[in-house]
Amino acid sequence: MSETPISEDEAPNCAVCSESITALPTNRVIATTGDDGEVSYNHFCSASCESSYHT
Ligand SMILES: [Zn+2]
Repeated sequence: MSETPISEDEAPNCAVCSESITALPTNRVIATTGDDGEVSYNHFCSASCESSYHT
C-alpha cells in the first residue's frame, strides 16, 4: 500500500461534498483507472461520502 503525501497548499476537496479534507483523519483516497488507462484519484472526507459516490 502506498500513500501520497498531501501538502496543505494542495488540499484536495471531497469528490462528493467539496469539503477540504487535508486535516481530516477520515480522509480516503480511491484510485480509479479511466478508459484511457490514466489513473485519477478521488478524495473523500469520510466513508459516507465515499459510499455516496458509488451509488
Ligand atoms: Zn465529503
